Amino acid sequence: MPERLGAPREAPLFRRLAIVGMGLIGSSIARAARRQNLAGSVVAADRDEGVCARVRDLGIADAVTADAAEAAHGADCVILCVPVGACGAVAKAIAPALEPGAIVSDVGSVKGAVMAQVEPHLPKGVQFVPAHPVAGTEDSGPEAGFATLFAGRWAILTPAYGTDPQAVEAVRALWEGMGSAVEIMSAPHHDLVLAITSHVPHLIAYNIVGTAADLERVTRSEVIKFSAGGFRDFTRIAASDPTMWRDVFLNNKEAVLEMLQRFNEDLSALARAIRWDDGEALYELFTRTRAIRRGIVSEGQDAPAPDFGRPRE
Ligand code: NAP
Repeated sequence: MPERLGAPREAPLFRRLAIVGMGLIGSSIARAARRQNLAGSVVAADRDEGVCARVRDLGIADAVTADAAEAAHGADCVILCVPVGACGAVAKAIAPALEPGAIVSDVGSVKGAVMAQVEPHLPKGVQFVPAHPVAGTEDSGPEAGFATLFAGRWAILTPAYGTDPQAVEAVRALWEGMGSAVEIMSAPHHDLVLAITSHVPHLIAYNIVGTAADLERVTRSEVIKFSAGGFRDFTRIAASDPTMWRDVFLNNKEAVLEMLQRFNEDLSALARAIRWDDGEALYELFTRTRAIRRGIVSEGQDAPAPDFGRPRE
């Protein structure tokens, strides 16, 4: 998938695009939407006046407000870019301002819980098309965003049965306009797949860095000094936003716990292989995992160059 953006649209998709929550994802959408002519105007909302001031300074939206309902008023598309656990409250706040025919979407990393929180608040005639861009970095805030964040990445849509197909197509066109490839699946399937590809890996990173931090009291600075041995790569993931990830785990409990149980069983099998000098089992697994890495590179989901945490000379 190409990581560059294509040509901007000749005519915008939406008249007024409102983005609620101007962090990494919200500010990246604002930048991409303006660059790609996806909306006649982009209106940004963030509850924090300080964030609003920074968004104004960055010049990435046509209007900025701390009032989400004010941003949603007259918008034909509103995207919720707040942590998963805050989506219900934001939907409730904007509901009275939504006009019939408007589309509401989101970017939450969990879909089932967001749909359950948001849908009850939306007035009749408003279509909800949940979305999840499978793209991000460990940074937060409006300065962290960039227009090409979603280019060459997947965006997953999980519309409920009966959602107006035109609304789904409009949200698909929005993500395609930002360079993403779009896939549609059910919310439970999304939550299960993302539990193993994203949520559990983050939990493992948080856990291993936490364990090392405890050990560091014993080993002093050696954990940091020799971190390039593999630990450093976990620290990058474990630096991800604490609020966002707390909400992901609390809202995708079932799938994460199911995958974690499988993970624990496999880890026990590995421990047994080490204890009983079963080199064949270790070699067989490590060969299979190497092939998975090659598959990810050949599908364009990562660069083939070795990443030692610094550019190669
Ligand atoms: P972020 O940079 O931390 O931005 C989140 C924004 O939401 C901030 O402006 C924050 O304002 C606001 N917010 C937080 N709690 C709120 C509340 N209770 N009510 C209203 N606004 C609130 O986070 P992000 O990385 O953009 O993540 C936003 C969403 O994208 C999350 O649902 C996440 O699951 C999803 N997502 C993230 C990634 C990723 O890699 N980061 C990838 C895909 C999807 P304050 O500064 O005042 O807290």
